[in-house]
Amino acid sequence: QKPQPSDAAIAHSFTPKTIGRLAREVGLFSEEVEPYGTTRAKVRLEALNRLKTQPNGKYLVVTGITPTPLGEGTTTTTLGLAQALGAHLHVNSFACVRQPSRGSNFGVKGGAVGGGYCQVIPMEEVSLHLTSDIQAVMAANSLVVDTINARVLCESTQSDKVIQNIILDQYYLVSLFQNLFQLFFTLFTRKVCGIRPIGIFARFYLINSFQTPSKQLSGYVASEMMAVLALSTSLGDMTRRLARMVVAYSRKGKPVTTEDLGISGVLATLMRDAVKPSLMQTMEGTPVFVHTCPLSDIAQGNSSILADQIALKLVGPEGFVVTEAEGGAELGMEKFFDIKCRSSGLHPDVVVMVASVPALKMHGGGPALVCLSNFCLQNLTLLENGCNHLKRQLENARAFGLPVVVAINTFSTDTDAELGLVCEQAKLAGALEVVPCSHWAEGGAGAVALGQAVQRAAETPHQMNFLYDLEMPIDDKIRVIAKSMYGADDVELLPQAQKKVALFSKQGLGNLPICMAKTHLSLSHDPERKGVPTGFTLPIRDIHANLGAGFLYPLVGTVSTGAVTHSYEPAQ
Ligand code: ADP
Ligand code: MG
Repeated sequence: QKPQPSDAAIAHSFTPKTIGRLAREVGLFSEEVEPYGTTRAKVRLEALNRLKTQPNGKYLVVTGITPTPLGEGTTTTTLGLAQALGAHLHVNSFACVRQPSRGSNFGVKGGAVGGGYCQVIPMEEVSLHLTSDIQAVMAANSLVVDTINARVLCESTQSDKVIQNIILDQYYLVSLFQNLFQLFFTLFTRKVCGIRPIGIFARFYLINSFQTPSKQLSGYVASEMMAVLALSTSLGDMTRRLARMVVAYSRKGKPVTTEDLGISGVLATLMRDAVKPSLMQTMEGTPVFVHTCPLSDIAQGNSSILADQIALKLVGPEGFVVTEAEGGAELGMEKFFDIKCRSSGLHPDVVVMVASVPALKMHGGGPALVCLSNFCLQNLTLLENGCNHLKRQLENARAFGLPVVVAINTFSTDTDAELGLVCEQAKLAGALEVVPCSHWAEGGAGAVALGQAVQRAAETPHQMNFLYDLEMPIDDKIRVIAKSMYGADDVELLPQAQKKVALFSKQGLGNLPICMAKTHLSLSHDPERKGVPTGFTLPIRDIHANLGAGFLYPLVGTVSTGAVTHSYEPAQ
């Protein structure tokens, strides 16, 4: 058998239709589309307004087993399923995926959204700048950091000189001139306009998940700004969320918002275009929204609500929207339901759980050496072991009350006996249907059976539920997630986390949903533990409140969010 050409070679062998034609085909008016070049466009939010009374299509969420470096192909399957429904089963379909972060483009994954014959094209456009949303988020983050630093410098007294130097060292070296300009500007405007000094900065200064310029390459994907973009339901909603983001604390410990800093309006202006979803297409001409990129481990892990909402209107009541929840089901999917669906008010109809034979073998105790040749020989013992992991994630998916269809993303090395074993085990664990698919090698044609299974599943009666009530105490909500999704015996709140639970409860923030920051490489907090880890207590190190995004953000174990947190004691 001839090996399949590379993702890049395949992507380059297809010619996309023009964006004007694609937009017309999906039912958008020309005044609702803002083309970027000839194969990308922003879709204006006016489209949602126009289609307000149109019933939604069916809503499918694609999740997966815990990721391994061998690849499960969640994005590939999201696109393959949309291609199967649209180009082969001839119903309206739309895929909604996250924009790839530049970190992963320049890292192991290479530049593509999807893989094989299920990709978004042109691949360079979707992989790199797309429509510059990431740049807008970075600019907004920088504005916050620069404004805080300028205010600290303006408002600190002579005795705080040391602090000024620290701040200069930390942030200003990278773009010294830009920031000196900003400083003079701030001093100047303060003098001219008489800005009322808040008189507060320097004792405790926290920027949750914001990045220093040198770390921005990957950090913006975890920033609250990105989560706000992904969770907003309108321009007004985004503006209000940006305004209530807490970005620093005063000397007296009072939270300081972007509104307090007087920059919330500028932030909204910077992000005004980024809030519009970007329209592109798969290699089979299926429409795709590529919008926002919060990571699943240290952010909320799902593409934007607005993309899903517009797509659900555009496909109409007989159509399907396939949206991807990143990472393993215990992370991206749990956050999809408990955070994204809570914000959007949308209820999906079917969960599609993606698994692959090589990845299950790794979960079954296969060598940690990441080399496909270690996993290409038939090994039913390893695989059966690994199926316990699939069963665990299936239980997680079923906890939300929806029918679950398992898609086995087949690799050329899979044997019939192996595929038979996974089908049998997944059925035993309560999957409604289990479908081996070959869309990576054959495009949408390889996922037609999956498309049909999903169409049947969407017709079954179902009632979605959330995992926890918002009214529960903060630590109980965390405990429910840890026990039922991760399989932990219990949680242990370390002193800092305990303090925060008390503080947030007192501040009336106790009824926000929870966005766990946990490694995506294991069900537990230890990335080395594959399969089904048992006998562990989940340590909660600290908890942040992201008031713009609208969730509490517990930090699990040693997970690193890249957050920049500094405490500055005032010089006596
Ligand atoms: P995920 O969304 O789960 O992170 P992707 O869909 O982005 O995974 O795929 C990751 C990589 O795995 C891509 O390079 C893709 O080409 C490759 N891949 C996906 N499915 C298969 C398959 N069936 N056989 C071989 N490689 C695959
Ligand atoms: Mg993916």
